[in-house]
Amino acid sequence: MTIGPASLEPPPYLPRSVRAGAWEITALSDGHMRLDGGSMWGVVPASMWRAWTPPASDHTILLALRPFLAVRGKDVVVIEVGIGSRWEPKWRGIYGILATETLEGSLRACGVAPGDVTHVVASHCHWDHVGAQVVERGGKLEPLFPNARHFAPKVEIEVAKRPGHARAPSYRAEDVRPIEERGMLTPYEGTFEPLPGLRCHVLGGHSDGVSVITLNEDGAGETAIFWSDVVPTAHHIQPPYIMAYDIDVVRSFDVRSRWLERAAKEGWTGLFYHDVDHPFGRIAKVGRRFAFEPG
Ligand SMILES: [Zn+2]
Repeated sequence: MTIGPASLEPPPYLPRSVRAGAWEITALSDGHMRLDGGSMWGVVPASMWRAWTPPASDHTILLALRPFLAVRGKDVVVIEVGIGSRWEPKWRGIYGILATETLEGSLRACGVAPGDVTHVVASHCHWDHVGAQVVERGGKLEPLFPNARHFAPKVEIEVAKRPGHARAPSYRAEDVRPIEERGMLTPYEGTFEPLPGLRCHVLGGHSDGVSVITLNEDGAGETAIFWSDVVPTAHHIQPPYIMAYDIDVVRSFDVRSRWLERAAKEGWTGLFYHDVDHPFGRIAKVGRRFAFEPG
């Protein structure tokens, strides 16, 4: 089916859930942001993307910042944390950061306190994805989740701490250092399971180590896939619709083609981080194109 244009204003937060095997997965919210529409759409003509994600007068489009909570028995997992609160007013303005919700607030709405979280899994270390895992308290930077083991791609941790590269503005070392210094951070590579049935696949393309994260990939019942910035919104499901931020477009096209094909074939439930209106949805193949079915 064809979905309508993205909302121009943040819709109210609803803690909707889906299941994947024994996992209950709930959409959280760390608010919204606005980024330049052209940057979000790369070589896709504005005459096309303006109809799908209508821009404001400053050419920005509204994006969700949507972490997910995955609970299975004693495992309380946060997948991606959000942009966080450590932002000067100047940068809040430039990136259109709208604190309509916070990660902690939406977690508490689900009955989960930060101390209850056992695992925090990041797909990559861009600041709009990992900023919320570190909070400032009394001038000190501390982990938001004091009892959680944190996971992030090894190459992303390295890139986040290395200054002076082309994509350095997309990273902040202090989003990872306070976690790493306390020995709470496990780097991962290749295909890695933080827990049985929770699997990270390092793909690259969008960034050096961006990953998709699957839940219940081999088990009976549904499988879910967290698309991260590999497929940032439900409007970006055709393989050539690649953001201008991506560092390796050829690789992005290859991994997007393969994983969208796989998700469609297997009927996986997609979890979307930046889509304003659709936290969940499936990909289907219709002829040579992909179609989106809201979940
Ligand atoms: Zn990113």
